[in-house]
Amino acid sequence: MKILVTGGLGFIGSHTCVELAKEDNEVIIVDNLYNSKEEVLEKIEKISGKKFKLYKYDLKDKEKIKKVFEEEKNIEAVIHFAGYKAVGESVKKPLMYYSNNIITTTNLLEIMHEYNVKKFVFSSSATVYGEQETPKYVETMKRGETTSPYGTTKAMIEKILEDLYFSDNSWNISILRYFNPVGAHESGLIGEEPNGIPNNLMPYIMKVASGKLETLSIFGNDYPTPDGTGVRDYIHVVDLAKGHVQALKKMKQGLKVYNLGSGKGVSVLELVTTFEKVNNIKLNYKIAQRRPGDLPEYFADSQKALKELDWKTEKTIEDICRDAWNYEKNNA
Ligand code: NAD
Ligand code: UDP
Repeated sequence: MKILVTGGLGFIGSHTCVELAKEDNEVIIVDNLYNSKEEVLEKIEKISGKKFKLYKYDLKDKEKIKKVFEEEKNIEAVIHFAGYKAVGESVKKPLMYYSNNIITTTNLLEIMHEYNVKKFVFSSSATVYGEQETPKYVETMKRGETTSPYGTTKAMIEKILEDLYFSDNSWNISILRYFNPVGAHESGLIGEEPNGIPNNLMPYIMKVASGKLETLSIFGNDYPTPDGTGVRDYIHVVDLAKGHVQALKKMKQGLKVYNLGSGKGVSVLELVTTFEKVNNIKLNYKIAQRRPGDLPEYFADSQKALKELDWKTEKTIEDICRDAWNYEKNNA
């Protein structure tokens, strides 16, 4: 299959390009390098032994994106990763998020319609569930109240896709709701590289382990969870990448929503102690105040993806901690 991957040099996109190439797909990347580096291209070529074509275009530039469809002729499917993803920044700069996440998506869908390309995989997030009555999130639950403009862009795009499918049911759309993507490729060549001081737990642990930051603050130990710290469903990025390959393979006419998660909740303290054990490193941490807006606990019901995509996570929390640290050491 000839597949266009937007944001293909980013964290999840780069791992997905590797997995797509493994299955002999032809992969075309569009990325404006806003949050990635061009050298990732050589790295994914090295890992996979395949070549990728890169267009360094901004998805907001509709004419340039049309040119890609014109030049490439027979693109069959699009996986759409490109977008901004920093929750805190989105609160401060909502228009930047609405513009870059939503306009890029409607541009892309309009061009796909024009070129009669109707297979679309979208990177959504568990954040669209908002707060639910139970911590196990199932696709049949209604979307909840989002807590940031970032989350709202994901919920709005899901709605746009529903409206689009309703208007023209020749589309094949897979909405993938990621839980907490972490880890890195086992080669140590590609992984997550946040700018500045990280907000997310795993990247923060990396900076403390490598001595770039002094202390990890654990945000609250008085939640109603087994050890009092927050519980999330951490998914290895290579498992997540494979989920995209399966979503394309199993794609049928229709609009489908899938949770991509392990189905298991892990607490902050569990992640910290597993990291220490696997890598034989002592992490400096302290218990701090709860972070406003954080939910105590949620994780995926991953049965639908197992049944319909024949996909489940294979990597463990130990793999996640080992691979993330391996990447950090190689790239520090
Ligand atoms: P990332 O920032 O590493 O990758 C996104 C890529 O898109 C970057 O390479 C960036 O340069 C590119 N990009 C951004 N705007 C662009 C534009 N206008 N034109 C062209 N390229 C553009 O992010 P990621 O972690 O790989 O996430 C990929 C997708 O998955 C995003 O849509 C994100 O919201 C979603 N998602 C991520 C997480 C997570 O925790 N990482 C969780 C849920 C959902
Ligand atoms: N967390 C923490 N210290 C940090 C960053 C995060 O204790 O420096 C906790 C946070 O409260 C949550 C979990 O780690 O319980 C995962 O947070 P992250 O920001 O990685 O993901 P999200 O909040 O989006 O699930």
